[in-house]
Amino acid sequence: LAHSPAVTTDNIHIEVAANVTSLQDVKNAREMGCDGVGLLRTEFIFMDKDSAPGLEEQTKIYSDMAKELNLNSSKPLVIRTLDVGGDKPLKYLPIDKEDNPFLGERGIRVSLNHKELFKEQITAIIKANSAETIHIMFPMISMLDELLEAKEIVNQIAVSIGVKIKIGMMVEVPSAALMANIFAPHVDFFSIGANDLTQYTMAIDRGHPKLAGYADGLNPSVLQLIKMTCDAAKKHNIWVGVCGGIASDIQAVPILLGLGVTELSVSIPMIPKVKSKVRELNISTCKKHAEKCMSLATTKQVRDLKL
Ligand code: PEP
Ligand code: MG
Repeated sequence: LAHSPAVTTDNIHIEVAANVTSLQDVKNAREMGCDGVGLLRTEFIFMDKDSAPGLEEQTKIYSDMAKELNLNSSKPLVIRTLDVGGDKPLKYLPIDKEDNPFLGERGIRVSLNHKELFKEQITAIIKANSAETIHIMFPMISMLDELLEAKEIVNQIAVSIGVKIKIGMMVEVPSAALMANIFAPHVDFFSIGANDLTQYTMAIDRGHPKLAGYADGLNPSVLQLIKMTCDAAKKHNIWVGVCGGIASDIQAVPILLGLGVTELSVSIPMIPKVKSKVRELNISTCKKHAEKCMSLATTKQVRDLKL
């Protein structure tokens, strides 16, 4: 049933998309039954190189992926713009030494400080979007001004090429979740980056050898931020997905659906299992369960609570 839609027992369709980094991943994800790509991490196209990939090279990469995904049917491809800095350095784009790289120049901040590189990537994405199945999204948005500046660049390029594109943002910094009501009118969708949202909410480095285990997206603090994001999205009539690791966590699926998430972008091998889980669930039961989870005191209590 991997290639059939994931519909809950009360008839709500949940998109189960894939997180990918390469054309081969897109092919694998399609074969595993994905409903689309919810996160293309484009930094992998820029890393391990001596210089940035040029306009033609990038356009070909993105359009090959869109074609591969749309071999049999039309499926969305969400392309996240370059997300480097923090734990992901680029040889040819040195960032000054920082005391706290995770709180420094990373994600959209790098792109806005290197506009030529950003504009080239946006142009490539829009040129690849002749079938209008590609969406663009920005990583690490923490302030409205960043979103508006990035959006303005996309809109100008889209108008000059004459191709429309949907624009979304990652919600992975607590300020974005807390102010989701302010951001929502400016985007077509939200995608919750639960990995970073958890690390920034709990102040625990997600890769820390001793502490990373505590950075669990099912901590009630993170659930409350996800709920705020979903409520704002609902009010403004836009969709919300989750593309961080908890989207692939079977135990988290009922909680995320209960909070109001309608798209889960998961690791490729988990697509059939997540779809199968969705088909067992009833949204009204999930809502009650999610409410209870949010009111608990610890991650363990959330994980121990039976649906
Ligand atoms: C996230 O932060 O949850 C996310 C999906 O982005 P990345 O893991 O690439 O930082
Ligand atoms: Mg992230």
